[in-house]
Amino acid sequence: MSEVQDMRRVGLTVTGAVQGVGFRPFVYRTALDNHLSGWVRNTGAGVELEVQGESPFIELFLRHLQLAPPPNAILTSIEQSELTPEDCNTFEIRHSEAGTKQAYILPDLGSCRDCVNDIFDEKNRRYGYPFTNCTNCGPRYSITRELPYDRPNTSMSTFELCPVCQSEYDNPADRRFHAQPNACSVCGPRLALWGPGGREIAVKDEALATAGQALLACQIVAVKGLGGFHLMVRADDEESVRRLRKRKRRAEKPFALLASGMPQVHRFCNATNEEVDLLMTQQAPIVLLERSDDPTIYIAEAVAPGNPRLGVMLPYTPLHHLLMAEVGVPLVATSGNLSDEPICIDEHEAVTRLNSIADLFLVHNRPILRPVDDSVARVISGRPQLLRRSRGYAPLPIEVPGDGPVQVAVGAHLKNTIAYAHGSQAYISQHIGDLETELAMDAFRDAIRQLVSIYDDEPAELIADDHPDYLSSMYAHKQGVPVTTVQHHVAHVHAVMAEHKLAAPVLGFAWDGTGLGPDGTVWGSEVINVGTDAWTRAAHLRTFRLPGGDAASKDPRRSALGLLYAWQGENAAAFLDKHAPHLLKGHEREVMLRMLDSGVNSPETSSMGRLFDALSALTRVRARNSFEGQAAMEFEWAADLDEPGAYDFALHQQEDGPTVIDWAGVLDQVFVDLAAETAVGVMSTRFHRGLANVILRLAGQSPVEQIVLCGGCFQNKLLHELAVAGLENAGKRVYWAELVPPNDGGIALGQIHYARTTGRR
Ligand code: ZN
Ligand code: ZN
Ligand code: FE
Repeated sequence: MSEVQDMRRVGLTVTGAVQGVGFRPFVYRTALDNHLSGWVRNTGAGVELEVQGESPFIELFLRHLQLAPPPNAILTSIEQSELTPEDCNTFEIRHSEAGTKQAYILPDLGSCRDCVNDIFDEKNRRYGYPFTNCTNCGPRYSITRELPYDRPNTSMSTFELCPVCQSEYDNPADRRFHAQPNACSVCGPRLALWGPGGREIAVKDEALATAGQALLACQIVAVKGLGGFHLMVRADDEESVRRLRKRKRRAEKPFALLASGMPQVHRFCNATNEEVDLLMTQQAPIVLLERSDDPTIYIAEAVAPGNPRLGVMLPYTPLHHLLMAEVGVPLVATSGNLSDEPICIDEHEAVTRLNSIADLFLVHNRPILRPVDDSVARVISGRPQLLRRSRGYAPLPIEVPGDGPVQVAVGAHLKNTIAYAHGSQAYISQHIGDLETELAMDAFRDAIRQLVSIYDDEPAELIADDHPDYLSSMYAHKQGVPVTTVQHHVAHVHAVMAEHKLAAPVLGFAWDGTGLGPDGTVWGSEVINVGTDAWTRAAHLRTFRLPGGDAASKDPRRSALGLLYAWQGENAAAFLDKHAPHLLKGHEREVMLRMLDSGVNSPETSSMGRLFDALSALTRVRARNSFEGQAAMEFEWAADLDEPGAYDFALHQQEDGPTVIDWAGVLDQVFVDLAAETAVGVMSTRFHRGLANVILRLAGQSPVEQIVLCGGCFQNKLLHELAVAGLENAGKRVYWAELVPPNDGGIALGQIHYARTTGRR
């Protein structure tokens, strides 16, 4: 640094996901490599640094910063300024500065290769230590109280680093330099095994070994993990899995599996390369895979009754790696809760809440600050898609247009998530779930409160669904802050527009269970034209009534009866006797028919989900749902892909109003097929192809190029892939939810996008 003329000093402000990913040590090392002096520090907004040295080295440093940042860092902006060189010749990492809070909180990241090697290496001081982590992996969101991301602001604040851990933490050359949750068996969290009532049975290695033995002996163990408790049991033992179902009061909804690694997964599932990639990402979601025809590991039928797919994940914490090494067989790992309550996160609470379910509790003393469920993903139309966006992804933001006020979108009623929009970013909460229990409402309020407090800015506006009776909407209207409401299906379309940065015009197919329409009827098969000024309803299914209203979502026979009633009118009873006597009998039938005659408690709907239910019941696939969407799913799984035929839906264009998609002709064909004892698989495929044709015809009639497929019905892989292939063939650009779920888990993002783009253009 002798040639003073070439000496430069550059100041940089970097924003994005730059805290908790080893960004400062990376800057430190890169600066030293290039003979630069200066400093770096975390701020509320990201990372700030100054480097000084010879101009060519400054250039090298800047290039390296942009081209090769640490693997988990996401740089959204780099602001650069020229400064006057100072008298300095060292590089230091300075203390964090509080300020405006725009840095990201990183999601929890699955264990990295190096850390997994450490815990299985007998010579390593972290051999067998279940809370090993480094700057490339470990807990983040689930332990962070507030920004900036420093140890005192996490739930690790009460653990004092031992001298060895402290020296790792202080050494810029170490993988654990400033790794906030850094710990070892001397100074860090510790494992314990509790019996009923929280009686301690064993600690540390012995706790793990005893829990492993108990699992092998078919006991149910509640395991405190990263974002909450799992209930675990052997997946290869029918009786044990049934016992878990009974205790958890969960009849048939599929359980997720935890496998030790890919070799084990391949022994009971088929997985494509894309699916393997998805399983092995550091986000480590549950991935839906096809069951193998020829498994060499038996998976109990009760894990996912009647389901051709299994939800599988790989170990993502050292604890899970160690436990799987201990037991060797795949385990059921379902969220630690009773039926639809939120996941349990505290060990003392678990002993009470999960007392009637678990035989043992494998717990630890690192507090989990918020529940973060496992994410659920799949590959559809060749691309990964999240069906539940939670651990590993939340609360990473999606960029939204405009620089609007601070807004909170409260989402829908089922599969709730909330979104917090600050500047150009919408931070989407972890999966909160169905807002049907007090515990779920507590989790909902906590999620809002926590995102607001992390970013330290109260919302100036709340955004809710049009439906006034959703508990999320009721909450919004009570806050004393202006509320904007958004039609449910319009929000579905906007969620995909946000994710893919689409500007109007867009033609969106929002097909789902139910959402309130502005005409007071229950919508659910909406084709929405999002124009530059306003949205219009371009098409929908011919409506029918649902006897008993919401009860129909659990009882597909009600949808079938409502459909037949809309079709046959007064002849419905006689028609039932003659053509579908199996559907409903006796008193129950009379009550429902009377509801339909009088119109009492039988709302009018255009729901696509209910049409699927009706078909499932009429073709005798399933008459009752034990979980949401079950009948519709089983109707999809029944499909025989060799069948080329399609049922024909009529499209009635109205003078001024939406096109009506009429199912009457389809019912004609279905009853002809039923009378001829046509295989269900053939009928299912004809129905799916018929609907895909509806999409192609409606899209073909529209000049709009950008087509969006959204809503829970597009979780149907057959419908999705038929529609996408057809639309792409026709030269349309097709978009669907990938990063954010296609179901109501995406509504909050759609609400933000709607508020940001409508009426404020
Ligand atoms: Zn690591
Ligand atoms: Zn230590
Ligand atoms: Fe919906």
